[in-house]
Amino acid sequence: MVKMYYDGDADLGALRDKTIAVIGYGSQGHAHALNLKDSGLNVIVGLRPSSKFVTPAKEAGFEVLSPAAAARKADFIMILVPDEFAAEVYRQDIEPGLKAGKALAFAHGFNIHFGYVKPPKDIDVVMIAPKGPGHLVRSVYTEGAGVPALIAVHQDASGHARELVLAYAKGIGGTKAGVIETTYKEETETDLFGEQAVLCGGVSALIQAGFETLVEAGYQPEMAYFECCHEMKLIVDLIYNHGLAGMRYSVSNTAEYGDYTVGPKIINADAKKRMQEILARIQSGAFAKEFVDECKAGKPNMEKMRAAAKAHQIEKVGAEIRAAIPWMKGQKLL
Ligand code: NAD
Ligand code: MG
Repeated sequence: MVKMYYDGDADLGALRDKTIAVIGYGSQGHAHALNLKDSGLNVIVGLRPSSKFVTPAKEAGFEVLSPAAAARKADFIMILVPDEFAAEVYRQDIEPGLKAGKALAFAHGFNIHFGYVKPPKDIDVVMIAPKGPGHLVRSVYTEGAGVPALIAVHQDASGHARELVLAYAKGIGGTKAGVIETTYKEETETDLFGEQAVLCGGVSALIQAGFETLVEAGYQPEMAYFECCHEMKLIVDLIYNHGLAGMRYSVSNTAEYGDYTVGPKIINADAKKRMQEILARIQSGAFAKEFVDECKAGKPNMEKMRAAAKAHQIEKVGAEIRAAIPWMKGQKLL
């Protein structure tokens, strides 16, 4: 088993006399800034003056500066803007404020690993990546716990980079749950693969294909939605808490038999071969380039795919069903 780091392995003292700049106040940014502040560390927030987050960050008690001014002032700079903007923000605002001995951090390895950000050699370059959405990083911390996190050291110019990342991970609550060490390469490639092949792409396509198959065969769309989408959470909760074996213990024998005999017919050797091809495109940087080019062009394909996906019948049926379930009614993502 890989080594897990907990609170006792980390010392907030490594960051105590330093100024930490959190650049961005979105999903991850607000959570990191607030948790670090509540851990007694010295945090400033870097935002464009036009950002809708300037007011909430000030109301939370932070000194809010432009990203450039925050980077000049801070010793430890955590970049938490969307990955597709990070290279530009780095070039324009962060790099001019860097000098020997400072530390630059990210919560995802994309820009460093694929070379879109190339920091100078005389600074520390590290990663602290919570394995959960930002809003959970904050809410779980306020309950006295933490979301597990990954840490990585890409450059250790100071000789103290590991103490810094462990302190930061402790400051956001990560060492309460457990922190494991990885590399920029491993975090970036596994993260992209997971979200494409399994977590986001794989699951969405599986749900949608199952739904379409039942509807096209003449079954009621509401039945198809319950079966292929709504129940997914119940099954995944069992897997999350008890493993695949625990899920199979809980479902009926009929379901368990169908699982063993049919699952591998759907996700067969051919599907696995395509997963390997997807992984190779990630490793070569081909996916990263495709995404960066798409963003540079103003995301025209992304907008088209987003609109088409939103217009799919499953969204309409799902919205009606969720509105009809008392405790799901009115739940909105902010
Ligand atoms: P987000 O979209 O929630 O927040 C982005 C922040 O950056 C906002 O404050 C926004 O105002 C600011 N911003 C947007 N465009 C900007 C620009 N051009 N210049 C300057 N600031 C700009 O982002 P996020 O989801 O918190 O992601 C931040 C980082 O955390 C990314 O590297 C992401 O991969 C990583 N990460 C996110 C999650 C998650 O749960 N969302 C989980 C793990 C890691
Ligand atoms: Mg991920």
